[in-house]
Amino acid sequence: MRRRHALKMIGLGGAAALLAQNERGEAGSVVPPTASRPEIKVGPVNLSMIEAIDAHTHERPFATASKSNATYAKGFADGALPPQPFLGRDALRDQLIPAFAQHWEQMPPQVGLRNYIGRTYGVEPTRENVDAVIARHRDPTDYYREKMDYERIAAVVLQSESTEPVRPKPLFPDDRFVWTFSIGPLLQPGWAKERGITDIEDYRRALLDVVATCANNGCRGIKLPIAYYRPISFKKVSREDADRALKVAFAAKPSGYIEGRAPVYDDDATTAALWAYEDYLLNALFIQAGKLNLNIVIHVCVALNTLLRADWNDPRGLYSTFTDPDIQRAGTRFVLIHSGYPYHHHVASFISQFPNVYTDLSYVSHHPGTLEEVLRVFLGLAPAEKIMHGSDFSGPEALAYSVDNQRRVLAKVLTDYRSHFGWTDRDCERMARAVLSGTARKVFGIAV
Ligand SMILES: [Zn+2]
Repeated sequence: MRRRHALKMIGLGGAAALLAQNERGEAGSVVPPTASRPEIKVGPVNLSMIEAIDAHTHERPFATASKSNATYAKGFADGALPPQPFLGRDALRDQLIPAFAQHWEQMPPQVGLRNYIGRTYGVEPTRENVDAVIARHRDPTDYYREKMDYERIAAVVLQSESTEPVRPKPLFPDDRFVWTFSIGPLLQPGWAKERGITDIEDYRRALLDVVATCANNGCRGIKLPIAYYRPISFKKVSREDADRALKVAFAAKPSGYIEGRAPVYDDDATTAALWAYEDYLLNALFIQAGKLNLNIVIHVCVALNTLLRADWNDPRGLYSTFTDPDIQRAGTRFVLIHSGYPYHHHVASFISQFPNVYTDLSYVSHHPGTLEEVLRVFLGLAPAEKIMHGSDFSGPEALAYSVDNQRRVLAKVLTDYRSHFGWTDRDCERMARAVLSGTARKVFGIAV
């Protein structure tokens, strides 16, 4: 299961997450004193002093930059090839890996991270120095705490890597995270078969039981990574049709698997059956999540990861979910993460239209140019109280670079509001506080 393993390691921003990991080194903490941090100002307001919350992070195994680079390059080469086995696949994959490795080194998150580490630690911004700075830190949990303190990151929202609905035990300090739970694996026929489920009602009950356990264990949101496998628009399906569809999917033989677990079928009728029973389960989930005060967190973004398709990430079909009377009655909150890029204009429309729809800037927060464009689009149309900072990464330095970048770009955009659009200092400060932490505090119920 080499492919499965490689892809499990990488989320949208997982590659960079891996890069900014460490191994145990010789020296202790090297985090510079807080006093040395630069001011990032909008008029009299210093954004460096405003606390941040990272609304979307992952935890990955710690590894050197070189090791993580190799892992992500393999994952992206895999993702760039069809999920079905074919003659010569391994040779072609091996041919693609060096190109992906080189490509990643030149991407904005890597350039930005090297420069952030360079200016923060007073070293030349090279890959070798990034490795050396990271390797100086002995204890991962201390490293997280030091960097979070340095960049005033009060807490992170961590997506659990487990399929068990329990609070994870990550390397993050225990008092500095809340968690969400990914439901991707639970929607696949394999999960249901392993549990002896034979009909759609049993399946619905089993799924909602897991969700209820999540809520009891303090979970703050259910993550839908399904744009990696299928479209994110959901039809209303009757129980009878869903049951028939489940039986079709159970009986069919997949021709391959995406991410090692999401089945792919060669005929359209079986694919339609898979998506139909999933739609039935997801509509039930959306209502239940609202009742349990769990956010529904949906991946919407096409970038970096070669598995991501523009057609499957198109969010326009979510309109019918947002206007569904049962879902509206349940009061379910939706968080469309990674800004929806390149559909951020559609996401801006949704967050301006629906009080229960939010977005975060995770992953794009490592790209100053794109972040500026996306922030202008969102703030141009919707309240800052609908927008959250996030990183989508996991390494301490990458989390820190992401929020440093967020503050700088936010300051640039808000300075235009102050200098040219007539916004008051108080308006600008309110918007900065909302994007950096206030919205996430409210949406994810963070008290720490
Ligand atoms: Zn993610």
